[in-house]
Amino acid sequence: MSTVSDGTVAGPRRLRAILAILATAVATCGVVVAATATPSSAATCNGYVGLTFDDGPTGSTSALLSVLRNNGARATMFNVGQNVQNNRSAAQAQVAAGMWVGNHSWNHAHMTSMSQAQMQSDLSQTSSAIQSATGSRPQLFRPPYGETNGTLQSVASSLGMRQVIWDVDSQDWNGASVSQIVSNASRLQSGQVILMHDGIQNTRDAIPQIMANLTSRNLCPGMISPSTGRAVAPDGTTPPTGGTPPPAGSCTATATTTNVWGDRYNTSVTVSGATTWTVVVAITAPQTVATTWNGTASSDGSGTLTMRSNGSGNTFGFTTMFNGNSSARAQIRSCTSG
Ligand SMILES: [Zn+2]
Repeated sequence: MSTVSDGTVAGPRRLRAILAILATAVATCGVVVAATATPSSAATCNGYVGLTFDDGPTGSTSALLSVLRNNGARATMFNVGQNVQNNRSAAQAQVAAGMWVGNHSWNHAHMTSMSQAQMQSDLSQTSSAIQSATGSRPQLFRPPYGETNGTLQSVASSLGMRQVIWDVDSQDWNGASVSQIVSNASRLQSGQVILMHDGIQNTRDAIPQIMANLTSRNLCPGMISPSTGRAVAPDGTTPPTGGTPPPAGSCTATATTTNVWGDRYNTSVTVSGATTWTVVVAITAPQTVATTWNGTASSDGSGTLTMRSNGSGNTFGFTTMFNGNSSARAQIRSCTSG
């Protein structure tokens, strides 16, 4: 259990950090308190986002934890098993600072080329190392490089873990500047998850601005639900606690063209305001949809693609063949919740 060991006068940030530690202490000790103080309870939280940091623990985990605590932020750390084994105290410090810990494989291999037995062994060894260091077995799994397949998902599931990819990539692994990381994070919507990494200075430097942006939009950092893979309140309940929820039956879908090739293009669609949804997308003839992912697709044969949520989160995508029309782009027609 942590205590605040320096003599700094408690300012607002400091106070929030202390409250975070106290909240963790209360949770860890199993004492039920009616109104648990958490950093986010002071702000208006109309929604929650999942901040995630991969590949730790590293030599700079303690620096990352300091920045997060000083900014009243809690996050999910997707740890590499080998790093946990080599740095058990850093994994303990993550939990003591109020963070959630997930499984990010034993040594960051490309897991889709493994056999099912190898996947099983890799993930199970990692979960055991995390449990040994922190006392808790992870309920979330993020595949290295976001590379996954059905076998890997079912192995994770058989070990009690929900697979979590991400909605927003901060690009910190790709040399993004502080302002680029802040700008990428500003795209986060309620329920979504952002990819960041332990051990990157620019990422740590971006956190105060990321938090300021979230606060300005009444979004708070939350935990990732092991049942839905979406960001929820730190106590596991779902938002909103205030504000105006979307009317029943509606949701918002936003389409982005993510890649264009000579003969085809990819579209990524993010849904907000619902966790189960149906999105109708118009495709301009003679373009045709070739492949889809992260949803259940159907087509009426007259230029529309209908995608339904299938538990893979709130971002789906598809590839459209130009077939001679390289200028048209897919258009959202409707988004229906439930
Ligand atoms: Zn990674």
